[in-house]
Amino acid sequence: MHYVSTRGHSGRKQFCEILLEGLAQDGGLYVPESYPRVDSATLKAWRSLPYPILAFEILSLYVSDIPPADLKAICEKTYTPEIFGSPDIAPLRKLETGLYLQQLSNGPTLAFKDMAMQLLGNLLEYELARRHEDLNILGATSGDTGSAAEYAMRGKKGVRVFMLSPHGRMSAFQQAQMFSLQDDNIHNIAIDGVFDDCQDIVKRVSGDLEFKRRYNIGAVNSINWARLVAQVVYYFSGFLQASEGTSEGVSFAVPSGNFGNICAGHVARMMGLPISRLVLATNENDVLDEFFRTGVYRVRSRADTLETSSPSMDISKASNLERFIFDLLGRDANRTKSLFDDQLRERASFDLSGDPSFAKAATRFGFRSGKSTHAERLATIRDTWGRHGTMIDPHTADGVKVGRMHVSPETPMIVLETALPIKFAATIREALGREPDRPQRFAGIEELPKRVRVLPADAEAVKNYIADIVHGS
Ligand SMILES: *Cc1c(COP(=O)(O)O)cnc(C)c1O
Repeated sequence: MHYVSTRGHSGRKQFCEILLEGLAQDGGLYVPESYPRVDSATLKAWRSLPYPILAFEILSLYVSDIPPADLKAICEKTYTPEIFGSPDIAPLRKLETGLYLQQLSNGPTLAFKDMAMQLLGNLLEYELARRHEDLNILGATSGDTGSAAEYAMRGKKGVRVFMLSPHGRMSAFQQAQMFSLQDDNIHNIAIDGVFDDCQDIVKRVSGDLEFKRRYNIGAVNSINWARLVAQVVYYFSGFLQASEGTSEGVSFAVPSGNFGNICAGHVARMMGLPISRLVLATNENDVLDEFFRTGVYRVRSRADTLETSSPSMDISKASNLERFIFDLLGRDANRTKSLFDDQLRERASFDLSGDPSFAKAATRFGFRSGKSTHAERLATIRDTWGRHGTMIDPHTADGVKVGRMHVSPETPMIVLETALPIKFAATIREALGREPDRPQRFAGIEELPKRVRVLPADAEAVKNYIADIVHGS
């Protein structure tokens, strides 16, 4: 299996080569040269597989530069009941006839990002050891990504994490999750500023190519292909659980921000998984809902990006969308480049409404979309608690709300749970007038000693800090 850029750069790369790379050289995203197809006999044979072996089978289709025995060992080490809370790893829970919740948030940081990041941590450690290299991961987080990355990389040989977060702006629980880590290779940096300042600093530090090379600076952000392919696995698992012996299709409803999670659903569908609809749910930041409704993709400015009660979906542009558009345009790299490079740079938008390919987003690729507002989010949390005794987090609530809009009687709708409610206690209190449930292992986490360095919103200060740590160890 080789990977190519959505913008046409001709270098074909292997899985482990792009593992440590972000964008392709031409600014595009890596995609597989073609999608491997899984036929119904294979799907049937996969029905009885435990999750780690299912993961191994699917990854094997995409990874040809890790010996199978090693890849299998990596999958078995990653997807354990100790790390993910149950032997099923990603179990389904029925909410009502035709509507299921797939539980993806029982990993170390209680958000679905663990499903991919835990695997990435083990893949990185393996590959860095093989190359005798080390890596300094630099990232910015407003919550879920940073903690998932830190819990995946803690104690890993060859890896350090430098994670920037806006000082005092994450929830108390999220701060405690990150800052209580005492591992030597994890470095929390609280920036005097907002999330955008953190992102700017990451861009500036990574944009200093001399510094980047000298200190082996890398990223594990949402465009990383390995994360995406790890997410493909739970779509297969969800289908196999919901379809119980029949080969009828299922639909998925997916709370979306950067289009990473639902892009994995698109890949699963391209592989032949019988997915009827891929329902994309946004919050008030409805860049993606607008695109799937109208064909107009309009990147928002900072001023037009709202702070909502499902904050992990507060995005101004969707970094993975380019992968889908590439397929939508029949894999025309020149057109993809012209849309994402020229048009977005010039006018921060592109318009496919008049293009015959746009209709295929719904007909051929199964996409539907919708948006959910604060009031709807609260009502959905209340309703799901009241009628089903299930407490859901604000992001998952957006998925349930929009999923219901697109439910059809013959087809099970699986809503992907993206976090547990404890991470967003204030909104749960507002919706239900009570505290969210707290898993036992997080009792008193806010009281633990914190390991964090506060720095000004200044790229030079962050560079100096990284250099000091690297030279000191
Ligand atoms: C990251 C995240 C999302 C958005 O996922 P994308 O892959 O960016 O679309 C939604 N909900 C939660 C809780 C998240 O952490």
